Amino acid sequence: MIRSKRKALGQHFLRDQNIVRKIVSLAEIHSDETVVEIGPGRGILTRALDETGSKIFAVELDRQLHENLEKEFADTPNVRIIQADALCYPFEDLPAPFAVVANLPYAISTPLLFRLLELRSRVSRMVLMLQLEVARRITAREGGKEYGLLSVGVQFYAEPRLEFIVPRGCFRPPPRVDSAVIRLGIRAAPKVAVKDEAFFFRVVRAGFGHRRKSLRNALKDGGFPADAVEEALYAASITDGNPQRRAETLSIEEFALLADKLFEITMCRGARPCAVTRPDHVQ
Ligand code: SAH
Repeated sequence: MIRSKRKALGQHFLRDQNIVRKIVSLAEIHSDETVVEIGPGRGILTRALDETGSKIFAVELDRQLHENLEKEFADTPNVRIIQADALCYPFEDLPAPFAVVANLPYAISTPLLFRLLELRSRVSRMVLMLQLEVARRITAREGGKEYGLLSVGVQFYAEPRLEFIVPRGCFRPPPRVDSAVIRLGIRAAPKVAVKDEAFFFRVVRAGFGHRRKSLRNALKDGGFPADAVEEALYAASITDGNPQRRAETLSIEEFALLADKLFEITMCRGARPCAVTRPDHVQ
């Protein structure tokens, strides 16, 4: 295969059986479970998953790799190799619940992760390998520079843990970055209840939209009316004592409180009469 295609598909094959064993044991797969693997490649993880006796659906985009795997697993009824783009594949059609165990194609690891989180009611847990830097952002807590939309977006629905780091030398060809394995438990309900999830994510996205700015300016630049932002920050006591506070210092709970206040304030400016009294300082 031409090198550029390999690169575009993120084809870095694991060659370390120890890492494979660690991934499978972290996933704690039982023989009566269903497992989805994304990007099986040459099948090193697929073979190890097969040993658990579970039912495996492995989705591989590359036609040649798919063909090779189909041949290899032709007599293995537990393993189904599917040729498809995992970003578009209708995982809803697979028997649920399923665990996801995969060494992800790194170029699309973030959209894939969000796609899998959309399917969270069907997913029991995930054990994923991705770039170390992305794994750090996914698991970051507020206060650090790695904390952002990705951290809040994932931690809202799941409990991610960075389990171990995998040096680039464990792959062939070696990628340019180190990798990490994370385990994500799916929360029974989002980490915090919010009035409107889409609105909550609009607030979080706007907050992180201008990282060098204070939260209040980032929200205003993000399209929220200036006086509503002031009112919501005051009502949620977010910037008391620190008007320059930035989004990366807010916990998910604080984002939720702020989003709910902003939601109430901006919604009640619509057709319905406003039930909220505005505090003096913003009048
Ligand atoms: N799991 C294997 C290979 C990982 S490399 C191992 O650990 O060795 C990533 C794999 O994902 C490659 O096989 C690549 O062809 C596949 N891939 C890339 N984009 C994909 C997509 N959109 N859908 C499904 N598979 C994809």
